[in-house]
Amino acid sequence: MAVLLSIEEAQALVLERARSLATEHIPLETALDRYLARDALALVDLPPFPSSAMDGFAVRASDTPGQLAIAGRIAAGRPASSPLGTGEAMAIATGGLVPDGADAVVPIEVVVEKGNNVDIADVASVGAHIRPRAGDVREGELVVGRGTRLGPARLGALAAAGVDRVACAARPRAAVLATGSELRRPGATLRPGEIYESNGLMLAAQLGQAGASVDRLPLVPDDEAAHREAIRRGLELDILVSSGGVSVGPHDLVRRIERELGVEEVFWGVAVKPGKPVAFGVHGKTLVFGLPGNPVSSLVAFELFVRPAVLALQGAAEPLPHFLSATLLRGIRRNPHRTELARARTRLDDHGIGIELLGGQESHMIARAAEADALALVPRGEGALGAGETIRYLPLG
Ligand code: AMP
Ligand code: MG
Repeated sequence: MAVLLSIEEAQALVLERARSLATEHIPLETALDRYLARDALALVDLPPFPSSAMDGFAVRASDTPGQLAIAGRIAAGRPASSPLGTGEAMAIATGGLVPDGADAVVPIEVVVEKGNNVDIADVASVGAHIRPRAGDVREGELVVGRGTRLGPARLGALAAAGVDRVACAARPRAAVLATGSELRRPGATLRPGEIYESNGLMLAAQLGQAGASVDRLPLVPDDEAAHREAIRRGLELDILVSSGGVSVGPHDLVRRIERELGVEEVFWGVAVKPGKPVAFGVHGKTLVFGLPGNPVSSLVAFELFVRPAVLALQGAAEPLPHFLSATLLRGIRRNPHRTELARARTRLDDHGIGIELLGGQESHMIARAAEADALALVPRGEGALGAGETIRYLPLG
């Protein structure tokens, strides 16, 4: 591990190799959290017709103030059968089609209905309480751009604009492989020297959250044949993420077996703490990530290198982590050699967002990391950062 890459260099090497997967057309109903492969345009004007913003009376503004004859009643989805005449008003519900001839709506709260007439005391201005046709978006205009993730609001916007199917890159299929002879599944009884396996579940959860469909491979001991068999299966999918066995010990088999199976290693070693021995390679179209076994290293390396790849395969326009800014609540020492992603908690107060590092920053301390809601980015360098300085952080989902 002679030269360590910077985080940004390593991310660039990953993204160069993470091309968007083939496009499929899917029902909007199933498109939550998918990324658009093409711009989605409005199929209709929105609103499609001038509609009332209030329950009230549709009138000609020039007839107000005054007493008007009620010429009809309009509900949402039930337009008037004839235009509004001079001296007339029509009762109209919110969302009702404003009839031809009307150019204002007077809210029900400010009128007095008397039999078949309505008294309007004030002058109505032209356009009052009318949502003009296409005031939101015009037919053919952009509703959601390509590369954008479809959250609930965007799904709603597309449905409103008449879109029922969208073009999205396929969801990546990912394999997760946990390696280590010391690992037991939770629920089993531990023998001396054993620990519970946690990375497989954690990585599967991170992959699933990022949009991949996940295939968890059986846990493998530090045995060559078992590694070979499991890795071969993982190489059939779009992404293989393994944990453990990428350091320099005699039992660290992952990189050697991967190389033997034809994986071209792109890098091994990034100047980041935790996560330094992370390995990345490719095998045909499969992206192959070897994450270090310490659980916090796995967690962090996933966020920095694997999540961007999963998002890029889905065609995300901005696959890299989105860091935010916060004010340090307590001073911290910097690491001269490696940028650190420290487990931290954020706090919102009158001055904005403050951030504080948690105790227990070692890379095996996953229970401590569970308290974190953020990874604070502490850039490598000499000296300390004082309370009150601004640093960047990555929110943890
Ligand atoms: P390794 O990267 O295989 O040298 O593992 C580094 C440390 O992480 C060791 O203490 C392992 O026991 C631990 N470890 C490796 N894989 C896992 C896992 N899947 N779950 C929990 N701990 C692990
Ligand atoms: Mg190991």
